[in-house]
Amino acid sequence: MQIGEIPRVRLATLPTPLEEAPRLGEALGGIRLFVKRDDNTGLALGGNKARKLEFLMADAVKQGADTVITTGGPQSNHARMTAAAARKLGMRPVLVLEGKKPSERQGNLLLDELLGAEVSFVPEDADLDAEMARVAERLRAGGARPYIIPLGGSSALGSIGYVLAAMEIVDQSIAAGIAPDRVYTSGGSGGTLAGLLLGMKVFAPQVAVWGISVGRREPDLIQRIVRKAEEAARLAGLPVSVTEDDVHVDDDYVGPGYGIPSPECIKAIRLAAETEGLILDPVYTGKTLAGLAGHVKRGLVRSGETVVFLHTGGAPGLFAYSEWF
Ligand SMILES: *Cc1c(COP(=O)(O)O)cnc(C)c1O
Repeated sequence: MQIGEIPRVRLATLPTPLEEAPRLGEALGGIRLFVKRDDNTGLALGGNKARKLEFLMADAVKQGADTVITTGGPQSNHARMTAAAARKLGMRPVLVLEGKKPSERQGNLLLDELLGAEVSFVPEDADLDAEMARVAERLRAGGARPYIIPLGGSSALGSIGYVLAAMEIVDQSIAAGIAPDRVYTSGGSGGTLAGLLLGMKVFAPQVAVWGISVGRREPDLIQRIVRKAEEAARLAGLPVSVTEDDVHVDDDYVGPGYGIPSPECIKAIRLAAETEGLILDPVYTGKTLAGLAGHVKRGLVRSGETVVFLHTGGAPGLFAYSEWF
C-alpha cells in the first residue's frame, strides 16, 4: 500500500502554522527557532493526537465500530481527543484511565465529562491492554461493536500521521526559505517520534530528529521508536529502514517522573509564555523545551542553528497543575 491509499478521515485542521519565535530563540542562546503549531490541530482544543486519530479512526470506521475504547492517565490528552473524535464520527467514547480518580474534575478530565465519555479508573499497575480487552468484551456482550485504540494512539498506523507531518514541515520550510538543522519534540509512547523520524528520513534526511523523553528511559524509548517506525515503513510502502543509529533521544529531562514537573520544566513554560505568548504544558512540551534549552547550554545545539520545535499540545492539562505555578 502507498501512503496516500491508507484510509484516513479528516479530523485535524491542517496544515498547522510554522511560526518563527525570535525572542524565545534569542533567550535560549541565539538559535533560529521555529514552532510547529500542532497544538493548533483543532479537535477539542488540539494536540498531536489529532494526526494519529485520522488514521486510527478511519480503521475504526472501516471495521464498522460504533464504540471506541482507549486509555491514558487522568489528564490524558489522547483520551480527551479520542473521545472528541468518536463524537465527531457518531461513536460512543469509553475511557479506561490509569490511577486514582481525582477529587477535582479539571483540565482534560472535565472535557472527557463534557464529551460524555464513559470513564472508569483502574489501578496504576494494571495491565491496560487487558483492562481494555475486558471492557470490550463486556460491551460486545451488550451488542456494541467496540474498537480499541492503544495508549497514546501509538500504533504504526497512528504514526503515519507524523510521516505526513514531516512532509508538511519540509514543504513549509521550503516555502519559508529556511533549512532546519534539527526538529525537537516530546517522547512519550514514541509514536510521534517514530512517524517524524521515518518521514524525515524519506523527505529530508539531513534534518536530525531529537526526542526529549518525558518518562521512559532511553533504551526503552529507542526500541519502541525503531519498532514502530519499521512497521510504519512497511505499512506505507516506504523503501527505508530505521535503525537505532537514526534515533536521538535524551532522558535527562524527565525530572521526578512522568507527569511530575521539574523546576526546569516550570521555568521553560514561563519562558515561552513571557517571550512569545506561547503556552506549553507541564507533562510534555515544558520538559521538551527544557531539554532544548539544556542542549543549547551544553553546546549540543550551536547558536545560529535553525531548530523546529514541534509543539504537540497539552495545554488543557495545565489547569490541573495550578499549584505548581
Ligand atoms: C501524547 C502526547 C505527546 C507524546 O506523543 P507520543 O506519540 O506518545 O510520544 C506529546 N505531547 C502531548 C501534548 C501529548 O498529548
